[in-house]
Amino acid sequence: MSRFDSAEPYYGDDSLHVGNGTGLPILHIGSSHHYLPNKTFSLTNILHAPQIKRNLLFVQRFCHDNNVYFEFHSNFFSVKDECTHNTLLTGPSEDVLYSITLPTALPVPKVAFSTSRASAATWHQRLGHPHHQIFNTMLFKYCLPISNKTLDLHCNSCLIGKSSKLHLLSSEYKSSHILDLILCDIWGPAPVTSFDGHNYFLLCVDHFSKFMWLFPLKRKSAVFEVFKRFVTMDERQFTTQIKCVQTDWGGEFRNLSQFFSSIGIIHRLSCPHTSEQNGIVERRHRHVVETGLTLMAQSNIPQHFWHFASETATYLINRMPSRANSAISPFELVFKHKPDFFFLRVFGCQCYPHLWPYNPHKMDFRSTPCIFLGYSTSHHGYRCFDPITERMYIARHVRFSETIFPFKTTPEPIPSPSIPNPYVSTYPTSALIIPNAAPPPATIETTTHHHHHHLSP
Ligand SMILES: [Zn+2]
Repeated sequence: MSRFDSAEPYYGDDSLHVGNGTGLPILHIGSSHHYLPNKTFSLTNILHAPQIKRNLLFVQRFCHDNNVYFEFHSNFFSVKDECTHNTLLTGPSEDVLYSITLPTALPVPKVAFSTSRASAATWHQRLGHPHHQIFNTMLFKYCLPISNKTLDLHCNSCLIGKSSKLHLLSSEYKSSHILDLILCDIWGPAPVTSFDGHNYFLLCVDHFSKFMWLFPLKRKSAVFEVFKRFVTMDERQFTTQIKCVQTDWGGEFRNLSQFFSSIGIIHRLSCPHTSEQNGIVERRHRHVVETGLTLMAQSNIPQHFWHFASETATYLINRMPSRANSAISPFELVFKHKPDFFFLRVFGCQCYPHLWPYNPHKMDFRSTPCIFLGYSTSHHGYRCFDPITERMYIARHVRFSETIFPFKTTPEPIPSPSIPNPYVSTYPTSALIIPNAAPPPATIETTTHHHHHHLSP
């Protein structure tokens, strides 16, 4: 009995029937939890029958409640995770029975736990606010562990950042390989120059996979240099080469056209807003801008961080199935394996990177409170921004407080879905503007060095 986390007396008529047909009276019914490093087992409907000599486990119920399965061998058994197929527990066979020992250790502190099992709302934020249909598909397909069963999400950030339109792709004609056709679009100028001096971004969409690459640009004319880098990167990363690029850019990109033809890429020019392919890039583009707005609304980061929000949006959309029914993300089509969803954290939240590689002096603090501003695609790490020093760290080992948003100093606005949403951007010259955005905290103000202090005589 003392092993139960909770129990109540049982007054029903059922008894527990054992092998020889005898019914043993049930006195209590209860539940308990057993903590492994990466998994919690729950036992529900435990029947307390004092006359029974051994505790028996209902294998079917245990499998059902814990998403696991058993493998019985002649002299041992193992319990495996239904999603990962990792072995969670093993036990011997004794006499004619298999004997299972469930850990009874104290639960691991909740904070460590939150990394493996987060709420549906946290997953919704980590994944970049996917449409609920896509979200459900992802939870199911990737077996994302959520701590609550209710998926009833009311997300203010989604209401602020997105129009009500569903961003699903209709079936268009199919290209057969990645890089067969790259669709390009330029966004900007941004209403605010970014933290590191960017005013535009170039969005490249692969027609086959719908995978996107986003490149921040300082000037529109930088597109030439960026595209050269893009072509080189593709050649290094993939066995195939870009065959065709479609843009709706006019004369100012004429030298880009020459560059394309010099390396054997066909450059197709299209009239804006007419062709089917333009429809794809416009929808993807809008999805990036709106998801970026949503991430900014979620975290209330200052406007001059818009490019971090856009890059993170692109990173996350690449990992979302682009159609509700196919459930395959662009990332999987391009890289042939599942994205690492357990790497994802909530954009704009508080984080504490382990800074030992940066600190030359042993006495320095090993961590400092930072703000999580997305993923480093080149290092597979997290971008952590220190608002005091205005320094960006790329760190792989980071602790997160996913419900704390340091830039969020005011309570969330509560928009009413029935009123036309004034915050929604207009494509394509939309501004990443969040009305009512709170000014950045004073810590940033004091570290900007552009102000001269005038002392009165
Ligand atoms: Zn949302």
